[in-house]
Amino acid sequence: MMPEWVLKKAAEEMLDYNGSGQSVMEMSHRSPVYDEIIRETEALFRKTLSVPDNYKVLFLQGGATSQFSAIPLNFMNGSGKADYIVSGQFSKKAADEAKKYGDVKVIASSADKTFSYIPKITREDIREDADYVYVCYNNTIFGTTFPYIPDTGDIPLIADMSSCILSQPIDVSKFAVIYGGAQKNMGPAGLTVVIIREDMLGNARDITPVMMDYKVQADNNSMYNTPPTYSIYVHKLILEWINNEIGGIENMEKINREKAAILYDYLDCCTLFKPTAEKGDRSLMNVCFVTGDKELDAFFCKEAAAEGFVNIKGHRSVGGMRASIYNAMPIEGVKKLVEFMKAFEAKHK
Ligand SMILES: *Cc1c(COP(=O)(O)O)cnc(C)c1O
Repeated sequence: MMPEWVLKKAAEEMLDYNGSGQSVMEMSHRSPVYDEIIRETEALFRKTLSVPDNYKVLFLQGGATSQFSAIPLNFMNGSGKADYIVSGQFSKKAADEAKKYGDVKVIASSADKTFSYIPKITREDIREDADYVYVCYNNTIFGTTFPYIPDTGDIPLIADMSSCILSQPIDVSKFAVIYGGAQKNMGPAGLTVVIIREDMLGNARDITPVMMDYKVQADNNSMYNTPPTYSIYVHKLILEWINNEIGGIENMEKINREKAAILYDYLDCCTLFKPTAEKGDRSLMNVCFVTGDKELDAFFCKEAAAEGFVNIKGHRSVGGMRASIYNAMPIEGVKKLVEFMKAFEAKHK
């Protein structure tokens, strides 16, 4: 969901942005008024996540999935080897895509237990000459998140943070590249944000499509072609909401921890539902659970939808239930869900 504050502000400014006489949708991306929007968005993003000066922030199209290809095309440029930690479906897809371009080694996987935990790795697991190590930081479908930042030494660490970015502060300097599709926590679909350390730029393969060459995008301030202008503008509103309405990213984390605790505390003590992710690796954003009975799961989802709890069905590949409690979900929403679950449990003991 989107914060109501953001939707209202976008509605207010829909026909006339800031006295410009135009909707943001109507602006040329080369106009001074739009230029100010994208610059302010970048400045706010940098401030919100404390992005160090030696990192570029890119506003791209193509979704997280396009980065699955862009990453090997830009960074498999030394030994041609890359090491992947497969902790869910999105890292598996990323590894499969990278295999087209070079020598991919899955150095750890949690496929043995339906991705219910995060594999632990150490420096010894990483090939010394790997061009990079890849992780998916929050596993949207399975409801797990990295409880640690893998120590990769001098080898660049690359992270897909699509479903957790902006949910809490993160030490950007521990990563060479962080990226995410906007649609989970940063705004509407259509925008992909990439944070990239400057020394990573400039070694793309000759065959890399120009749109996937991060250096070209960085040199052109994300305007090599038309960027997703309206999504960038709504992303700016999201950043304003986090900073001005929520009180900053630290407060955002506090609220997210509170929300997740309400659900997990209930799941840990109730008898009908069971959380599926291992305790130490649980996601703050995606809370997955089952009853153990597929029919009862389906019935729960149906009853929940009738009460207004939409999208609670687990991903089509795993079933069960998944409560996605991204930034915009208020604490009251989580409390109401738990009340509903308690009532359901009382009826189906
Ligand atoms: C949703 C998601 C993706 C896919 O994003 P698209 O923008 O649809 O390509 C990739 N990785 C993670 C972690 C996701 O949550």
